[in-house]
Amino acid sequence: MGDSDRSGPGAKRTIPVSKVVLVGLEEDYVQDAVRSTWVSSVGPYVERFEADFAAFVGTSRAVSVCNGTCALHLALRASDVGPGDEVIVPSLTFAATANAVIQAGARPVLVDCLPDHWNLDPDQVARAVSSKTRAVIPVHLFGHPCDMDRIMEIAGFHDLTVIEDAAEAHGASWGGRRTGAIGHIGCFSFFGNKVITTGEGGMCVTSSAELAERMRLLRNQGMTPGRRYWHEEPGFNYRLTNVAAALGVAQLAEIESVLSRRAALAAAYGEGVASIDGLEVVPPPNGGMAIDWLFCVLLREGSRGRRDEISARLADRGVETRPFFFPLHVMPAFEGSRRVGDLANAERFSASGLCLPLHLGLSEEDVERIVAILRESLAHEARTRRLACP
Ligand SMILES: *Cc1c(COP(=O)(O)O)cnc(C)c1O
Repeated sequence: MGDSDRSGPGAKRTIPVSKVVLVGLEEDYVQDAVRSTWVSSVGPYVERFEADFAAFVGTSRAVSVCNGTCALHLALRASDVGPGDEVIVPSLTFAATANAVIQAGARPVLVDCLPDHWNLDPDQVARAVSSKTRAVIPVHLFGHPCDMDRIMEIAGFHDLTVIEDAAEAHGASWGGRRTGAIGHIGCFSFFGNKVITTGEGGMCVTSSAELAERMRLLRNQGMTPGRRYWHEEPGFNYRLTNVAAALGVAQLAEIESVLSRRAALAAAYGEGVASIDGLEVVPPPNGGMAIDWLFCVLLREGSRGRRDEISARLADRGVETRPFFFPLHVMPAFEGSRRVGDLANAERFSASGLCLPLHLGLSEEDVERIVAILRESLAHEARTRRLACP
């Protein structure tokens, strides 16, 4: 929490929006990996992490990589997405989703989210398809699953590859299947603020032997298996280290209890915010089960200005929050993308959404305190607004 500490008289400790908490055998396994001297990307923890993660998600295969962005890029390249191709992504997502598309040489096609949910709208996906479209990346944003039935149906009709961005949705599900296991490839991140972490790290999961083999090859410089230093095509170095995988094995072993602890904290939040005027909590779309990553609230009649003011008030009172992402279509970095429709829902969610702290370092009392400060901050903002324009 070092960076978040406030100094000076009367300083209170800031509650960070996320925090890494060790939940089991992390230190033992990392020490074991270091002592064995298998600290690079060969070693038993890498294989074990891949096998355990595939079992957790419900795919036959998993290919570990050095981070979640590389997972997306590797998935795209293994699916032969490249220059001249278009890939449909939601405008409301973390930049990594579109960055990976651009890195693959393809063009992102930005689509809107649903009117009543921040996840991408399957109707807009159908509308976005052109003769150049090769793939779609549904993002299970903030732990909530996308409508994968509709997306798979549309993708099947147009022969598109479906790459799930499940970086924020370890353990969520749609129609009884875990996110990541529904499309052709699922991509995960193990950055420090995700549900489980390896420091930096990522995973591609698939039940296609062919895609898994292709990803293993490209991950390792494109080197032909069984023929050392022979390369049929250029690849990358996207390998995960055995030390990072040791962290991952320990974190993954406890993921079910981590998810239920997160659910309990989210339930406490849900009870608390239910009685706050002017706030909304969005349930996951029908047909899916969400996991609790950050706790997201939406300001009714929200505007970016109001949201940011409330967030600043919370920061003053020692609660770190996080605004929703800017939609990609408003940022200079993604000017080269094709946009579909007015993307108004993405703008509305982006301006009104606020993520509250959710991590294993919180107690129910912390949640109560955060809710009280949130209630007070909304009331304060409403009062100053009334005074400003009587
Ligand atoms: C975190 C994240 C990524 C990227 O993962 P890294 O491991 O940070 O590269 C991609 N997509 C989404 C939606 C994310 O939240």
